[in-house]
Amino acid sequence: MYPFHWVPSASARHASEDPRPEGTFVYPTGTEVSTLCGLTEQSADNSELAWFWPTCETCYEKARKIADSLTT
Ligand SMILES: [Zn+2]
Repeated sequence: MYPFHWVPSASARHASEDPRPEGTFVYPTGTEVSTLCGLTEQSADNSELAWFWPTCETCYEKARKIADSLTT
C-alpha cells in the first residue's frame, strides 16, 4: 500500500498523505485534506464527476517519486 491516496479537490485530482477516516477507502466529500503539491485545508469532493478531473501534475510527480522509492 502506498502512503498516499488520490483525492479530487479544487478541480483536479490530487494526492494526499492524510489518513482517511477509519473504515473508509476514500476521503468523503467535505473532508479537509492537505495535498502533496502543498495545498492545505482543501475540501475533498467525492462526487462521481470529480474523479474525471485532470490529475494535478505536481502531485503526480511527487506520488511517483514516493512509489519509486518504495519499490527500489
Ligand atoms: Zn496537487
